[in-house]
Amino acid sequence: MANPNAYRALSFWHDTAPGAVERRPGLPGDLDVDVAIVGAGYTGLWTAYYLAVADPHLRIAVLEREIAGFGASGRNGGWCSALFPASTAKLAAMAGRDGAIALQRAMHGTVDEVGAVAAAEGIDCHWAKGGTVVLARSRLQLARAEEEVAEARSFGFGEEDLRLLGPNEAHSMLGATDVLGGTYTPHCAAIHPSRLARGLAEAVERRGVKLFEGTEVRSIEPGAARTPAGVVRAGHVVRATEGYSPALPGLHRAIAPVFSLMIATEPLGSDQWDKLGLARRETFSDFRNVIIYGQRTADDRLAFGGRGAPYHFGSRIRPRFDREPAVFAKLERVLAELFPAIAGIGVTHRWGGPLGIPRDWCASVGLDRSTGLAWGGGYVGDGVGTSNLAGRTLADLILGKDTELVRLPWVDHRSRPWEPEPLRWLGVNGALRLALLADRSEARTGRPSRAAAALRHLIGG
Ligand SMILES: Cc1cc2nc3c(=O)[nH]c(=O)nc-3n(C[C@H](O)[C@H](O)[C@H](O)COP(=O)(O)OP(=O)(O)OC[C@H]3O[C@@H](n4cnc5c(N)ncnc54)[C@H](O)[C@@H]3O)c2cc1C
Repeated sequence: MANPNAYRALSFWHDTAPGAVERRPGLPGDLDVDVAIVGAGYTGLWTAYYLAVADPHLRIAVLEREIAGFGASGRNGGWCSALFPASTAKLAAMAGRDGAIALQRAMHGTVDEVGAVAAAEGIDCHWAKGGTVVLARSRLQLARAEEEVAEARSFGFGEEDLRLLGPNEAHSMLGATDVLGGTYTPHCAAIHPSRLARGLAEAVERRGVKLFEGTEVRSIEPGAARTPAGVVRAGHVVRATEGYSPALPGLHRAIAPVFSLMIATEPLGSDQWDKLGLARRETFSDFRNVIIYGQRTADDRLAFGGRGAPYHFGSRIRPRFDREPAVFAKLERVLAELFPAIAGIGVTHRWGGPLGIPRDWCASVGLDRSTGLAWGGGYVGDGVGTSNLAGRTLADLILGKDTELVRLPWVDHRSRPWEPEPLRWLGVNGALRLALLADRSEARTGRPSRAAAALRHLIGG
């Protein structure tokens, strides 16, 4: 992006980030370091942070094509949650019950870890740990809420981790229409995503990490990251490029970029918030199939997003792909259905960004000791918290530490590659279509749809 102000247009969060949203200088030429990190989103920055904390003498370089927080890390819904992008049941089936429980417990701790580091580093990311309320707005959605709580209990997670809400309590947390109940977990904080990303970038620089922006890595190979400006040689090279990964040589089937889109309203008045609730800035959603998510921002707007934008052939990413008018219009419609009292409220920002979806929908982190190549990602829509766990785990792996983190079941997990095109295009967009059909059919009949069952089978829980 030639015009530095263009970065502000990336999202509401970039637009309201304090200070200049400008590009740091790029890589001046060849460089030797101990660790080279490709991508300055949360994954890359957390990895740099924990490495620099553990060993202040390590020479670390982060190479970023645009600016820190350019990708999903600067544009997301701001749920710093304990959600891991594969259910506990799926993880248990893959890697055993104990490992699945340990990973979920590690995710619970991760939420507080992000808050603690932000506080310690003076990063004002508008942190508010109000938890998450997920509404059940039909009998079917209520059954899903009950199933989810039953599953949590079966793995030993109690009321303090996830509980069912009756209609009154759910409605008092979030005054939406048709509320029959819901679930509540305290394990989530609402944040301002870009403030966290930009603040982390400054924190790693204070600790001596070299952050080069405007520096595109054209290839990653054992011992080197190659850019047009020079070669960065390093004992370890970490790939932290999430949805953008398919553009790198050898990775075009590693991950499918899928776009999530958001809108932000103008600030609501206190009388409106008295009706809507979210008094502790709880993040919110409901139990429909096409995911929606929202938060009350620190300046009293609703930031609200959802899936539904198409996957593009060949895993391509273009700026226009995260501006789908039909999806923005649907988000506004859903907001008006949920909260008729604010129907017609002004929408000041519309944006989106790419998520990274691995073939088995399971995030992973790992290090190949024979090559020194490491990676973290595949978070689908749950990377804000998970990327912190990734950063801590990658630091331990690179430093050769034998910790509980490096024994968690997502470490060194390999998802198989996506199918070649056109099968990938058909599969990803087919799944999206199923989710849309399932919601339509469930709204009409009130019964579980075959499309939802097929979708669950496809994703594997
Ligand atoms: C609209 C939206 C809403 C979301 N909401 C939530 C939410 O509420 N909660 C949640 O947990 N998750 C959410 N997510 C997902 C979450 O934001 C991501 O999982 C997470 O930010 C991924 O972080 P990352 O650092 O791995 O990737 P990214 O933030 O995408 O960073 C990758 C970086 O790599 C750079 N890069 C790519 N290729 C190269 C290259 N060749 N050379 C140099 N640099 C390169 C990119 O410019 C980018 O800055 C959302 C995502 C989106 C898009």
